[in-house]
Amino acid sequence: MAGYEKGLVEVGDRVWAWLQPDGGWGWSNAGLIAGGDTSLLVDTLFDLRLTAEMLAAMRAAVPAAARIATVVNTHANGDHCYGNELVSGAEIIASARAAEEMTRTPAATLAQLMAAAPGLGPTGAFLGRIFGAFDFEGITDVLPTRTFDGRLDLALGDTSVSLLELGPAHTGGDVVVEVPGRRVVFAGDLLFIGGHPIVWAGPVSHWVEALDRMLAMDVEAIVPGHGPVTDKAGVRELRAYFVELELAARPLWEEGLSPLEAARRLHLDRAAGWGEAERLVVNVAACFRTFSGAKEAADMVTLFGDMAALAGT
Ligand SMILES: [Zn+2]
Repeated sequence: MAGYEKGLVEVGDRVWAWLQPDGGWGWSNAGLIAGGDTSLLVDTLFDLRLTAEMLAAMRAAVPAAARIATVVNTHANGDHCYGNELVSGAEIIASARAAEEMTRTPAATLAQLMAAAPGLGPTGAFLGRIFGAFDFEGITDVLPTRTFDGRLDLALGDTSVSLLELGPAHTGGDVVVEVPGRRVVFAGDLLFIGGHPIVWAGPVSHWVEALDRMLAMDVEAIVPGHGPVTDKAGVRELRAYFVELELAARPLWEEGLSPLEAARRLHLDRAAGWGEAERLVVNVAACFRTFSGAKEAADMVTLFGDMAALAGT
């Protein structure tokens, strides 16, 4: 498998990944699929500068990138859609659930939160550390122009592309983009490599099902939402993480611990050395919701506060 350097890497016949090491908070991957003289972009990036830089590099390397007819946003997190205004001439596709979530997380909200961060104590310091490298000012939210539920097959020149809605898991409307003829799948944030995943929506059992769907595909290269390009071994590793997590979390829930207390107690050997270990508290909270039958996740400020506490910043 290719190395892990910033930029464009060919992962299949006329299929490229755009990688942003180190894959931590906000450093997402994107993708480009060429078919004939047109192309499909998988995700935009967290801000306009990063997205413009990526589009320029794609156009310089791939003639078909001059005509990006279609953009797919794999889900509603800003690091996969805040650059949409730079491809606003394209048809922009997302699952209906992801499109609905995008209306609730405009870039302006994050810009305001970052502006307020210096007054938010440890949580603000944590936000500054993880998101300080990005610029959320002046972003115009451009929402999907086409939505779907379940599955959507697209013709792209000489190949076909399948959009499969496998959420809720990471978020409410996660989609993976499969290019069957070229044996590549873009997993969006249903796959993290080298860092902890984060279960904003869940349940964990549904994320495991999504990973099983990917394991059943006839694919060679798998592009995660964050981290280096992988194959099915990377999918199996994350699957094992979730199985271990749920098993380990249950007795801590039965003890009556809070997610933060439980996350401090919990050690997953396979995740030793993975980045963003603070996400464990959010993932434990998702397990606890399943155990208790609770529906709603805690609000973002509480979750970031718990992560700041776990990270010790
Ligand atoms: Zn992401």
